[in-house]
Amino acid sequence: MKIYTISPILPQARYQRCPQCDTLFSLPPVKSVQSAHCPRCNARIHNGRDWSMTRLCAIAITMLLLLPFSFTEPLMSVSLLGTTISASLMGGIMQMARQGDVITASMVAFCTIGTPVTLVASILYLWFGHRFGMNLRPVILMLRRLKEWVMLDIYLIGIAVASIKVKDYAALEPGPGLIAFITLTLLSLLMLIHLNEEELWQRYYPLPEANQPLASLRICLGCHFTGVPDSRGRCPRCHTPLRLRRRHSLQKSWAALIASIIFLIPANMLPISIIYLNGARQEDTILSGIMSLASGNVPVAAVVFIASILVPVTKVIVLLTVLISIHFNCEQGLKTRIRLLRVITWVGRWSMLDLFVISLTMSLVNRDQLLAFTMGPAAFYFGTAVILTILAVEWLDSRLLWDAHATGNAEYTD
Ligand SMILES: [Zn+2]
Ligand SMILES: [Zn+2]
Repeated sequence: MKIYTISPILPQARYQRCPQCDTLFSLPPVKSVQSAHCPRCNARIHNGRDWSMTRLCAIAITMLLLLPFSFTEPLMSVSLLGTTISASLMGGIMQMARQGDVITASMVAFCTIGTPVTLVASILYLWFGHRFGMNLRPVILMLRRLKEWVMLDIYLIGIAVASIKVKDYAALEPGPGLIAFITLTLLSLLMLIHLNEEELWQRYYPLPEANQPLASLRICLGCHFTGVPDSRGRCPRCHTPLRLRRRHSLQKSWAALIASIIFLIPANMLPISIIYLNGARQEDTILSGIMSLASGNVPVAAVVFIASILVPVTKVIVLLTVLISIHFNCEQGLKTRIRLLRVITWVGRWSMLDLFVISLTMSLVNRDQLLAFTMGPAAFYFGTAVILTILAVEWLDSRLLWDAHATGNAEYTD
């Protein structure tokens, strides 16, 4: 059920600023199953999904038990030239570190092993930490940022793409780790959907809400609390410094965007994968890899095309437009720009798909002299570019868009 907030003063209403456009509005009491949206930019202010800590903990423990199996047990195996080779998530990363380079392997490891493990550990920490009176603030703050880096769902699609790729060379069978991995992915999705940081803050660090529409009210981008800064200029709830606008937001966002554009050039020119077949070496760039995939299976080629080419390019173009529009205080198409920014924030992580596919294929197709698949130098550049674009969006303070729109010459230096 959606509630659109309205401005007349209501009994028990609390005042809140929108984290995306900074509008101050009154929010009537919202039930935990309802969601509330900003009246100006339609950003979601209150998430109607919330599960109890007990339920989240039960999921975390189940995930903890599944983790070792889904990471180390074979996800699938192939019979290649008389021998059976199996690939696991961990094996794929190790192979990537051995034959390719360690940095690209650690990018894959971070998104598929590092973040899910951190997610599980954080939930368990909250559960135990609360009992022993430990400081939970850094963990709840981190959870909001962690969400988009948990990429188990993308890896699952990667397994499907890799198996279709490998089918050309060998007969394929699902491995015992696959069920564990699918269950782990579903549980992680459930947890991410039902994990509500706002409710966590209210549960562990309850503070009185603002009941006067004061101009000095500021919203904290860390915990989304609207209040007056404490004596040290910090958010009273999570203790991060409360600034009018995020510091150096434009500079950082530009830097990440320009770097990602530079990295995207070698990522698309250099070979991303190299196949040795009976001693002959065949190199594939991202585009030629998609072309050869398209000759066999068009839908899968389309998925890889969207993830590896369409999404990164669109993301760069949208970010460029948004950043330039802020500099020139552009007023046209604000709603469209906001909408596009939200879409690219949501789809940006899917670009990692290609790296996951490469990591899996590398450990599956590996028969030394006869047939081998390894990654090319483009993989590193591509992975870095994707991570940089995610950071560029993360660092951009979307309130600057509204400032440029509203005043025409907004200058915020704080
Ligand atoms: Zn808003
Ligand atoms: Zn805060």
